[in-house]
Order: sequence, then structure tokens, then C-alpha cells
Amino acid sequence: MSVPSQRIFRFAPSPNGLLHLGHAYSALYTQRWAKALEGAFVLRIEDIDTARCRPEFVAAVFEDLQWLGLDWPEPVRIQSHHFDDYRAAADRLKSKGLLYPCFCSRAEVRAAGDGRTDPDGAPVYPGTCRHLSAAGRQEKLRAGVPVQWRLDMAQVLEEEKEFLIQEAMPDPSNTAVARRAEPERWGDVVIMRKDTPTSYHLSVVVDDAIQGITHVTRGMDLYDATDIHVVLQHLMGLPAPIYSHHHLLVGSDAEKLSKSKGSESLASLRALGITPADIRSQLEI
Ligand code: GLU
Repeated sequence: MSVPSQRIFRFAPSPNGLLHLGHAYSALYTQRWAKALEGAFVLRIEDIDTARCRPEFVAAVFEDLQWLGLDWPEPVRIQSHHFDDYRAAADRLKSKGLLYPCFCSRAEVRAAGDGRTDPDGAPVYPGTCRHLSAAGRQEKLRAGVPVQWRLDMAQVLEEEKEFLIQEAMPDPSNTAVARRAEPERWGDVVIMRKDTPTSYHLSVVVDDAIQGITHVTRGMDLYDATDIHVVLQHLMGLPAPIYSHHHLLVGSDAEKLSKSKGSESLASLRALGITPADIRSQLEI
């Protein structure tokens, strides 16, 4: 395997709320590893969910990270400016016959499922629309029925039996260990959503390649999603970065910190007079 000349790390928050200590940990973890390996630190804004992401949260991301002492090259890649890239990638997968249109609602997926759940706890799609005839698909597409596009995982796995993930710990030796992905646990994942012409999985893989990311550092909550990412990299002929998943910070209730639960934001800690040095020492990073 050829070794890329420059190591590039990224921190890729979604601006759908204010950043909290968990984000600070992830950003500083990425910075620490980038420094240890003399790599670059790149920031990316993952705002494909245009209904939940807001410009004021993007501004807050910049402010909070600068306050923490991070810097990054400009321009920052903002996913909502690049829907054409994701559409083109999905079109390539469609032209290989690897995606199929699915018209099911969430309720229909739940009702039709056989009780299996994916690593995120969501019902595994039973494949109802995989069995639609070509004419049936065309009719629904023409009638404008809301459509999402799913990956035909069984077909993918028929052609390629084994996918490996290079997982590393952040130490200067940069030694990665290969582990076997188990993408079958996810079933036919959605690659293009109904409400936006992409999905987290598609955008993240396309952008990591476009930005030349060599090292993906992120929380354990995305550990299992990597199985899907290596499959997509393979299908699109993209280089696979090295992954490192860090532990998640938990609150006093032993639950992971989250924006939706209103975990204390960095902005509110700053307003209380807490310094970046206090944050680093609390996070031990
Ligand atoms: N945008 C994702 C998040 O905020 C992170 C994506 C990734 O690191 O792959 O959870």
C-alpha cells in the first residue's frame, strides 16, 4: 500500500445545536493526533440536514473551536454547498445497479420488519421495495411518490465477501490493525434520503475522499457506521482512511452527552468564566 505524503485529519461537526464537552474532546483528540503525526487538521461542517442545521450554529462552531485554540485551513467545506457531488456519487452507484428506490414510510418499515435491528437499534429494512417490478418503480417515480434510495447490501456482499477496516490508536507509531467489517448487520441502508439528496454515509465518504482525509478520528457512536463507509469506499473506488474511535464522554446520569438532551454547551461554560485550559484539564487531553 502506498503511503500518502501528507496526513490529513478532520473534525466534522453537525451544526444542529451548540457544541458541548463531547465535541471539545473529539476536536482536541483529533488535534492531538494530527500534531503527533505532523498532519493537518481540517474542519468540515456536516449540515446536510437543512431543516435542523442553522447558520447561527455554524458561527458558534467556529467561535467555540477558535476559543479552544484550534485552527484550520480555509475554505471550510460546508456540505450543503456540495449536494451536486453527492448526487453524482449516488448516480454512479445507481448506474451500477447497486441502489434501488424505496417508497416505504418509517411506519411501514417498522410494521414489515422481522424484529431484527441494526447497530443503531433501528429496524432492519425487510427489502419490500427491492422486489418491486421495473414498471412498478417507474410508475411510482413518475407519480412523484417520495423516494429514498437504498443500497442492495445482499448484492454487494455477493460480489465481495470481506471488507476490512484499518483501526488505529493515536500513537506516533501510527500502527493500524485490520478488523473485519460486518455490513450485513445494517441491511439495505439509505444512501439518498427522502428529504435531502444524500445521506450521512454517502456525504461523509465522498468528502473524506475529496478532502484527502487519511485519518478519521471520531467517537465510538460511529464505530459501527464504519462498516458501511468501507463498503461505499470500495464500491466507488475511493481510498480508505485509517480510523480511530475514541470513548464517549458521559454526563452525571451516565448517558452520553448530546445536544438534544441540552448537555451543557461550551458557550455556556465560557460565559461562566471557564477557560480552555480548564476544559483541557477536565478532559485530560
Ligand atoms: N457529523 C457527525 C457528528 O457530528 C460526525 C461525522 C463523522 O465524524 O464521521 O456526529
